[in-house]
Amino acid sequence: MSPDAATAASIATAEGAGPHQTDVTIIGAGPCGLFAVFELGLLDLKCHLIDILDRPGGQCAELYPEKPIYDIPAVPVCTGQELTDRLMEQIAPFSPVFHLSQMAEKLEKLEDGTWRLTTDTGTVIDSKVIVIAAGGGSFVPKKPPIPGIDAYEGTSVFYAVRKMEQFRDRKLVIAGGGDSALDWVLNLQPLAESVTLVHRRDEFRAAPDSVNKMRALVAEKKMTLEIAQISGLQGENGQLTDVVFKDKDRGEWSVPCDMLLPFYGLTMKLGPVAEFGLNLEQNLIPVDTERFETSTPGIFAIGDINTYPGKLKLILSGFHEAALMSQAAVRIVYPDRKIRFQYTTSSTDLQNKLGVA
Ligand SMILES: Cc1cc2nc3c(=O)[nH]c(=O)nc-3n(C[C@H](O)[C@H](O)[C@H](O)COP(=O)(O)OP(=O)(O)OC[C@H]3O[C@@H](n4cnc5c(N)ncnc54)[C@H](O)[C@@H]3O)c2cc1C
Repeated sequence: MSPDAATAASIATAEGAGPHQTDVTIIGAGPCGLFAVFELGLLDLKCHLIDILDRPGGQCAELYPEKPIYDIPAVPVCTGQELTDRLMEQIAPFSPVFHLSQMAEKLEKLEDGTWRLTTDTGTVIDSKVIVIAAGGGSFVPKKPPIPGIDAYEGTSVFYAVRKMEQFRDRKLVIAGGGDSALDWVLNLQPLAESVTLVHRRDEFRAAPDSVNKMRALVAEKKMTLEIAQISGLQGENGQLTDVVFKDKDRGEWSVPCDMLLPFYGLTMKLGPVAEFGLNLEQNLIPVDTERFETSTPGIFAIGDINTYPGKLKLILSGFHEAALMSQAAVRIVYPDRKIRFQYTTSSTDLQNKLGVA
C-alpha cells in the first residue's frame, strides 16, 4: 500500500510530535476532509489532517481507486484515485499538514478553550476547531483466524508498516494476495534477511506489474512464494520463530520467521471517535444542517460520519457540508472578523490565496 508517487509528492507530513498549533484539526483525510481544507483555506484557516491510512483519499483511495465515479458535479467520470489526486492539487495552495498512519485517539479541552487532540503514536495537535470527517470510521486490518496470534501482535505480528527499518535483516513472512501484500514484498525484500510470500492460491488481486516483479524475484531465488494457508505460529514470549503452513496435498510444514505481516484487507470501525463524548445515533454523529456542528460546540462532523434528516452518503453532500461548516468554523477562530461572501471567479482576494491572481 505505498502512496501514489504524484500524490506523495504533494503531501507535507509533520515533523515531530508537537504540540502542533493550527486553526483546525481534521480527523480523516477522505474526500470530505480534503475538500474541507479548501473551503477553510479560502477563509484563511490552516489545517492539520490525521488519518490512520498511510495516504489521503479515504474510501476512494482505499476501496475503489480504479473504479469510475460518475456523479461528481462537472466531472463526468474519474476514478477514486483521480478524484483524490485532483483534491490534493486543489488544496495544495493552502499547505495542509498531514499526520498519516496515525489514529486520532484522545480529545480534551484545555483551560483556554483550545481542543487538544492526541494520536496513538503520541502526536499532539492544538486547535480552536475540530472537524470529524471520519467516514465509516477508521480503517482497521482484518485479522487472520490463526490460533494464538494475539500473543505476537506488536512484537512479531504487524498489520501495517510504519517504519521499514524495523524489518531490516529479519526473516519475514508476508501473507495476502492484494496490493498491500505485494507492495510490501517488493519494498521490504531488499532490506530483509529473507522474504516468504504466502497466499492461498496462485492468483493475485494486486497490480499485474507488482505480481510480475514478485515472480521475477522468486525465479532469481531472492524470495520464496508459498501457495498455502497459515495454520499455526511457533515461538515464545511474543517472539515468533516459525510460521506453520498447510496445504491439502503437501500437509503441514514450518518456515523460520521472526516477523509476520498479514495483509488480509481492511474493515471500518468507528473506533476512538465514539469516546469523544458526542451524541451518537447508530454510530453516526447527529449534526444541524446550518453549521454541521455536533452536540459539542467547536466540533463539527461532515461526510459519511454525520447524520441529519435526508442525509445522503454521497461525496457531493460532504462537499456541501464542508462549505457550510467552514462558514461556522471561521466565526469561532476569528470571532471579530466580518465575513464577506465572495466568488472565486471574481474575487482577487480569493485568487491571491489560490496563487492564480
Ligand atoms: C465501492 C464504493 C463505491 C462508491 N461510489 C460512490 C460514487 O460513485 N459516488 C459517491 O458520491 N460516493 C460513492 N461512494 C461513497 C463515498 O466513497 C463516500 O461517501 C466518501 O468516501 C465519504 O467520504 P468521507 O471523507 O466522509 O469518508 P471516508 O472516505 O470514509 O474517509 C474517512 C477517513 O477517515 C479516517 N479515519 C476515521 N477515523 C479515524 C481516526 N480515529 N483516526 C484517524 N483516521 C480516521 C479513515 O481511515 C478514512 O481514511 C462509494 C463507496 C464505495 C465503498
